[in-house]
Amino acid sequence: MNCTTVKEGTFCAFMSATGCSFNGGRCHPVADQCQGCAQIKEYPEGQYCLTYGNPAAKWTLGRCNFASHVKTEKKDEKKVNPLKASKRAQAKA
Ligand code: SF4
Repeated sequence: MNCTTVKEGTFCAFMSATGCSFNGGRCHPVADQCQGCAQIKEYPEGQYCLTYGNPAAKWTLGRCNFASHVKTEKKDEKKVNPLKASKRAQAKA
């Protein structure tokens, strides 16, 4: 059902005929860490996330997994098989 509170007109799974069933009865505005994310949409009451109702909670245990503005660093380390490494070391000796 479409939201009738802060994200008016946006489909939301928490919305029902009896009102918003999300914690607190309405979505929370985006957190400071969200600035720059493509999931932010401007509504008359402020900026809200299109994906989550409580954006600050998505950052409590690290980075939000849907954040589009934060890139993860790829580790360039090769995995070493300890058994093969041991055999290689023996062959050199
Ligand atoms: S997807 Fe994550 S980082 Fe982006 S606005 Fe929503 S909560 Fe914030």
